[in-house]
Amino acid sequence: MRIGVPKEIKNHEYRIGLVPAAVVELVKRGHEVWVEHDAGTSINLHDQDYQQAGARIVNDAEAIYADANMIVKVKEPQANECKMLQRGQILFAYLHLAPDPEQTRDLVASGASCIAYETVTDLRGRLPLLAPMSEVAGRLSIQIGAHCLEKSTGGSGVLLGGVPGVAPGKIVIIGGGVVGYNAARVAVGFGARVIVLDRNLEALGHLDELFGSQIETVYSSPDSIRRQLVDADLAIGSVLIPGAAAPKLVTREHLRQMQPGSVVVDVAIDQGGCFETSHPTTHDHPTFIEENIVHYCVTNMPGAVARTSAFALNQATLPFVLRLADDNLEALRKDEHLRRGLNVHRGLVTYEEVALAHGYDH
Ligand code: NAD
Repeated sequence: MRIGVPKEIKNHEYRIGLVPAAVVELVKRGHEVWVEHDAGTSINLHDQDYQQAGARIVNDAEAIYADANMIVKVKEPQANECKMLQRGQILFAYLHLAPDPEQTRDLVASGASCIAYETVTDLRGRLPLLAPMSEVAGRLSIQIGAHCLEKSTGGSGVLLGGVPGVAPGKIVIIGGGVVGYNAARVAVGFGARVIVLDRNLEALGHLDELFGSQIETVYSSPDSIRRQLVDADLAIGSVLIPGAAAPKLVTREHLRQMQPGSVVVDVAIDQGGCFETSHPTTHDHPTFIEENIVHYCVTNMPGAVARTSAFALNQATLPFVLRLADDNLEALRKDEHLRRGLNVHRGLVTYEEVALAHGYDH
């Protein structure tokens, strides 16, 4: 199979679909890999590294989309990339279609088979291709939140760890899955007071076992969220209902009760966000202030630490890329977990939550 790796074009997106070590594996199995010129240069993965791994360097994305059997990339294709997708081609990338009717329409029109990293499952029903980026985003969310609390960025001027004689800040993490756990880990390291809310008791039990008295776990309900937010300095939105748009758990009214200059980092913004006041932002303009609260709502947070993220993503995606390369779409028949990733196939929406969100038959 010929596998194409275009350069990412989303704002400040420096990750790349395949690192050179992944190319070596594919080439060893008899596949061809075409990588767009300079696709990895900004994270110190140079064309020469790809050539040494056995890839062919191609000057423009058009040539890759025109001739590859499978496109492996990181972020959802932008509108002009969707136009280049071919009928019968495989697209393997993050898609996040539930909150994105335009992209869904474009992928349906393309006739390609579009497999979303974020809905591939594992034996325990977890999301193995979302997890590495959730680890990154969770860890980042606290360091970003700490920065947003500084006066120069519009924050209240609270130091999360406090100092002797002055109380630490309070961090409320809504959603105790992969993002939530990783946020809690860093938050504990900062020396903050940490509350994690979830409605899955198993998730809360797991966090309780791991962190003991270093954090407090709270069952999530509209009332417990409201109570916890009143004196929060930093709130992290990290809920997920797989494949579906994020539930709006925090209302404008909740924010009005918080101290001015407090911060929300809505990590779940890639699924539409769990704060009523959130809207997607970019690394160029990551924050805005609404109801006197600083909002950080960047949809591709791991792009900020693109080198770490590219390697972390590749170590998770590679086994699936190899299966798709070896067996083409037959790989979906053989592996029900990979099949869960199929969101759009030859003009049809094949993922229930996406179909329901946009009124398609499925
Ligand atoms: P996960 O499935 O591991 O965890 C989600 C948690 O939310 C689960 O424990 C679930 O029980 C909980 N939850 C669901 N409904 C809830 C409710 N009403 N109240 C409290 N908790 C609730 O998911 P994850 O991997 O941690 O991802 C979380 C979100 O972060 C996803 O939307 C994911 O796409 C997003 N994400 C965003 C970025 C970014 O760059 N912005 C990067 C990585 C992940």
